[in-house]
Amino acid sequence: MKKEPAFRPNEIIFAPTGQCNLYCAHCRVKRGAAELDAASAIRFLDDCMESTTLPAIERVGFSGGEPFLMPGFLVELCKAVSERGLMFDRLMTNGDWWTGEAELAATLGALYEAGFDGILGLSYDAYHGQDPDRLAAFLGAYYTIWGRKDGAELLSVRSPDDTSFLRDLERLAGLLGGALESRAGEPYRIVDEAHRSRTASDPDDGSGLCLSILRSPRSSSAEEGAWSARAWFKDDYCEGPGQVLYVHPDGSVAVCCGFANERPQLIIGSIGDGYAALLAAAAKAPHVGACYEKGLGQLRKELEAKGVAFPGKSSDICFFCDYLCERGLAGG
Ligand code: SF4
Ligand code: SF4
Repeated sequence: MKKEPAFRPNEIIFAPTGQCNLYCAHCRVKRGAAELDAASAIRFLDDCMESTTLPAIERVGFSGGEPFLMPGFLVELCKAVSERGLMFDRLMTNGDWWTGEAELAATLGALYEAGFDGILGLSYDAYHGQDPDRLAAFLGAYYTIWGRKDGAELLSVRSPDDTSFLRDLERLAGLLGGALESRAGEPYRIVDEAHRSRTASDPDDGSGLCLSILRSPRSSSAEEGAWSARAWFKDDYCEGPGQVLYVHPDGSVAVCCGFANERPQLIIGSIGDGYAALLAAAAKAPHVGACYEKGLGQLRKELEAKGVAFPGKSSDICFFCDYLCERGLAGG
């Protein structure tokens, strides 16, 4: 029986630009001049959908840079995704790219008309540091245009001192007419009374405010070193982040959804190569095999058995992946 490839993407994430209106201290995105054009991205989408034998692409998401700096691209791609009956995943944004409320309403309105019905993923934490009043205006416009208040999530990286961020989060909750709820000492969601008093039999019409807060640790880069964990990470073969084709602004395609996706070891070609050739390249790429097939945890054990000594332990699989990109798979 023919062996199934370990890397089986089901999503494309388009990052149309590396440019951004913010300058976050923890950002790893390359701010090049390259921009993805919508026609090439749609051609690639069609190429991926053509085959009935290769892994099926089901969803499309957007990242960057700040993707709203290319609103025309977003609208064109959202139309194409809707017309082809694919699903939307997250559209990542910092929510702070707009200059006036008329521009904000027009840009979001065009996206709504283009059919976007995925999750708006708002990056908000101490590193991003947006003004809560502007985020409340952004979310308010989004809720008004989509006619529901449950379509956004906050993606938030923990920092060593979150005191003023948590104060801003409380303020954001108040401005949205809701309250911040915490669980196990972590901000967990912002909800209003209408959402809280919903019962299981009520229709889920999105009229109540529900803004989930997804907290995550900050991944350190290989250069920073992060070896002080008490236990090693567990293998998940990138199932947590998901199996994606991540399309960079210059058209290069990575098998990684974020942290190390500019490392050459995780780039399998470019959109012009076509889906079949990209998957063939992924099947031959040693680092892709280590992540998706052998498992980086298994590789770590094998390296230690051969005498490779790491500076300590890391609980962050993406940090270790980035470290091996820099050092090579022999770990030396
Ligand atoms: S908003 Fe995102 S892309 Fe922009 S600087 Fe911050 S981390 Fe980088
Ligand atoms: S950094 Fe490596 S381990 Fe993490 S999601 Fe990307 S490919 Fe997977």
